Amino acid sequence: MASIVYTYNGGVYINITNKCPCRCLFCIRANGDGLGSADSLWHTNEPSEKEIIDALKEFDFSPFDEVVFCGYGEPFNEFDKLLAACKFVKENLNLKIRINTNGLGDLINGFPTAEKIAPFIDSISISLNAPTPELYTRVTRPKFDGETAFRAMIDFAKRCKNLVPETTLTVVDVIHKEDIELSQKLCDKIGIPLRVRQYD
Ligand code: SF4
Repeated sequence: MASIVYTYNGGVYINITNKCPCRCLFCIRANGDGLGSADSLWHTNEPSEKEIIDALKEFDFSPFDEVVFCGYGEPFNEFDKLLAACKFVKENLNLKIRINTNGLGDLINGFPTAEKIAPFIDSISISLNAPTPELYTRVTRPKFDGETAFRAMIDFAKRCKNLVPETTLTVVDVIHKEDIELSQKLCDKIGIPLRVRQYD
């Protein structure tokens, strides 16, 4: 059975789904079944809301001050479960909440998601992946039209900037140095910090 809660590199993570509308070139899911304390992050069956909450109840979070929603899938693909889990953490555990997302929650769900989740979270890390729609499409390979997905992700990030205490955009260092520089310029223009993640 796959882990819902797992630890990795000193952090604690919640893996609520394996669903994702993208096929990123650098997706960590291609590197193995497990990560950190989890032998497998592939769910045989997608966990229910109750199973997620039960996993949160059972885990000892006392060594941690933050929990991150990030696993082998896109958390906004299971928005109701994500919302319920964030509410549970906020109301019952003394932890900050971060979500790592591809920023396509609005496209996936068909309604504005940032406004609904923002009251429950402390930070959000959004995958910019590339500075242009063309490169974004090649790197992220979304099931949506690439330009539409890129614009939706940027719009989502801009709204998060005004709603969430800490919003960050990320690129992975698999793209060229010039594209990282262009990503930095784009982030400067929209006023959101960029974090360059190392591919490992
Ligand atoms: S958005 Fe995340 S989970 Fe989905 S393919 Fe890209 S890296 Fe993998």
